[in-house]
Amino acid sequence: MTENQGTPLIQIKNLKKYFPVREGWGKLKYIHAVESVPLSIWPGETLGLVGESGCGKTTLGRTILRLYEPSSGNILFKGEDITRAAMLPYRRKMQIIFQDPSSSLNPRMTVGEIIGEPIDIHGLAKTREDRKERIAALLAKVGLNSEHANRYPHEFSGGQQQRIGIARALAVEPEFIVCDEPVSALDVSIQSQIVNMLEDMQADLGLSYLFISHDISVVRHISRRIGVMYLGYLVELSESSELYKKPLHPYTRTLLQAVPIPDPQKTRSRERSVLEGEIPNPLESPPGCVFHTLCPKATGRCAELVPELREAEPGHQVACHLYAT
Ligand code: SF4
Repeated sequence: MTENQGTPLIQIKNLKKYFPVREGWGKLKYIHAVESVPLSIWPGETLGLVGESGCGKTTLGRTILRLYEPSSGNILFKGEDITRAAMLPYRRKMQIIFQDPSSSLNPRMTVGEIIGEPIDIHGLAKTREDRKERIAALLAKVGLNSEHANRYPHEFSGGQQQRIGIARALAVEPEFIVCDEPVSALDVSIQSQIVNMLEDMQADLGLSYLFISHDISVVRHISRRIGVMYLGYLVELSESSELYKKPLHPYTRTLLQAVPIPDPQKTRSRERSVLEGEIPNPLESPPGCVFHTLCPKATGRCAELVPELREAEPGHQVACHLYAT
């Protein structure tokens, strides 16, 4: 299903995540990693999340899974509020694929043990034979074979290690997976294989993804909708093709202008805006719009009032005073 009907699989309401830091002997300050993000992800949908590193997208993904506890706000899974629920039953339904496959796999465990561990935790295999068959089936699903179960992670290439990480996530038959920069540590030639595999698995198993990447061109390939984050805020959310055709937020336009085009003539003729100004300190976010210190369109109002994320056009939301009615 790709239409927004019924109950969202994942819904987050005003989710915030702050991390405390102390500078020397000074008083405790907070990094506002995620700031009041509202978001819904529908069954069978891939929602892409882009932004520069440090914008809060990974923190958001991990907070949705309660790997980080939210500072405030609510997380709903199929309409059920899980913000303070015991997570073990939901861990089966909500999984993660990590950015760096080598450090996410225990080097002392064989591939069979790595994939078998979540099967054991959730008691999914009835017999030893059933467990073995499940592991073999998962390896086959990600393009590896059953003999690989006896090997250790260091015996595999980066792409194969990521396939093992995907098999581990699939082992508990999840409905939702946070794909946290799953291809950014891989060679370009391997990236499309992994992305295509994730798409095939989605078509097969009806999975929903939150696909996080700093590379907007990778996100475009796989996502139905794309959200853009800047310094903890969701600043734009739209259908993927619409966002490319008609980006509204000045920050999204800058991101898109930075995507390389494999045509020198088009590259020369395309519009470019250079951001000038101070990049805000994440410990002391500026008042008003968080982008105003760099925004070429900023007005006096932008330094005073935080713009709300609102629908500027049907299905296209943006947090910018230029589109406030
Ligand atoms: Fe720029 Fe103002 Fe819009 Fe923020 S609200 S993006 S500063 S125009």
